[in-house]
Amino acid sequence: MEDCLFCKIVKGEIPCEKIFENDKVLSFRDINPLAQIHYLVIHKEHSRDLSEMSHNPEQISDIFLAIKKITTGHSLDQLGYRVFTNNGAKAGQSVFHTHFHILSDENLATKWTSNVS
Ligand code: AMP
Repeated sequence: MEDCLFCKIVKGEIPCEKIFENDKVLSFRDINPLAQIHYLVIHKEHSRDLSEMSHNPEQISDIFLAIKKITTGHSLDQLGYRVFTNNGAKAGQSVFHTHFHILSDENLATKWTSNVS
């Protein structure tokens, strides 16, 4: 999409710190990290949010296969990691190209969990 920030990153028009790439998926470091490790994972085909991406479930599969490669490749299994997506502005989505966050941190268990009030 013409005006989409993450489409511009896919096209190389805006730089990113690349973590992983194959023909369908791109992962790069979040510019404003919420944890020691904060990666974004996007599909190269534009969709607005997870709700829209769900019409193409193979894209969700592409994303999660990439997440498996990234987390294994960066030894995040031992440290533990969290994967999430914000669906819609009311949930905090600010970039409207579907993306999944991967967070990993020594203190992740005490950050933004359903166990902490
Ligand atoms: P969300 O708020 O869930 O839509 O997440 C959007 C994320 O994109 C935020 O965590 C931002 O820090 C991140 N972000 C915005 N612009 C860039 C960029 N140019 N490169 C890397 N990450 C970005």
